Amino acid sequence: MPVGTQGTVKAVPQDTLESLGAQIILGNTYHLYLRPGHDAIRRMGGLHKFISWPHALLTDSGGFQVFSLNELRKVTDDGVRFRSHLDGSSHFFTPEHSIDVQIALGADICMAFDECTEYPASRSRAEESLRLTMAWARRSLDHFRAHRHLVPWSDPKACCMQCQCFGIVQGGMYRDLRRQCAERLVEMDFDGYAIGGLSVGEPRELTLEMIAETLPLLPKDKPRYVMGVGYPDEIEQYARLGVDMMDCVLPTRAARHGLLFTSEGRLNIKNKQYAEDQSPPDPACGCMVCRRYSRAYLRHLMQSSEALSGTLNTIHNLAFYLGIMRRVRDSLEAAPRSAAEALKAES
Ligand SMILES: [Zn+2]
Repeated sequence: MPVGTQGTVKAVPQDTLESLGAQIILGNTYHLYLRPGHDAIRRMGGLHKFISWPHALLTDSGGFQVFSLNELRKVTDDGVRFRSHLDGSSHFFTPEHSIDVQIALGADICMAFDECTEYPASRSRAEESLRLTMAWARRSLDHFRAHRHLVPWSDPKACCMQCQCFGIVQGGMYRDLRRQCAERLVEMDFDGYAIGGLSVGEPRELTLEMIAETLPLLPKDKPRYVMGVGYPDEIEQYARLGVDMMDCVLPTRAARHGLLFTSEGRLNIKNKQYAEDQSPPDPACGCMVCRRYSRAYLRHLMQSSEALSGTLNTIHNLAFYLGIMRRVRDSLEAAPRSAAEALKAES
């Protein structure tokens, strides 16, 4: 899922996302709540209509941004008080409020309000954080079930599916806490399950260990989503383990800094060696950028701080990421294998 933080996948118009084959994008509840405001978006018919995206939308719970962008937040059992990073105004998010905002935005998939446990975290800190996450998951789901009909879709049938709510497995880097959380959430019977709190600075082997520990506990017939990953080889690896959904700012953020992911590895387009390089960014890529432009031109746009630079770099990186997932899907359809077999092959 390309990340569309502020109702836009930065630098890329919606029709281009469609032609790249993006089926779902992610919006950030925290940012859209602060600006332009969820009530304004509801009045305009919801986020689909507001941003002209007639495909699936997932919103996060806002929790991750509340925790990562706010030094002065105050957490209680009821929720989190924080100050806006825009104007310093004070706000209070509870699980119920987060769900209300996501329903007002009209997400197809809402996420339960959770606390993303930082890394490293002591055992007692991870336990305390998990206690909050599990209590908030219950409250999020109850509130969602009672209010899901309030989505602002003008014609609910026009959308690809009914509004859903996913629970998020936390537990830091403690296998038994992850297990405990997964089992508890599955009892609650969410529409799908996410594994959160990964890619927060831990070594990659640990990320894989937590995914491998948690994934088999989550129902196979519901979507399984790993949040906030990853590099191209990671997303392929996790998809082959049985992960159905992933989101990451990496392809878009890196693109704006001139880092291109290619079939030949990472390419830093700012490097002088590309100043007169007439070859396409990735000779093996058939995207609209690689078909038309040279490395030399992309480097020149970057050096000149031209707005087109971010757009072209991002289109290529998204094409590369979406291409990986397309190939994984095709190969799974050709030769499905169990997660256990895939894990064995990994080790
Ligand atoms: Zn390309």
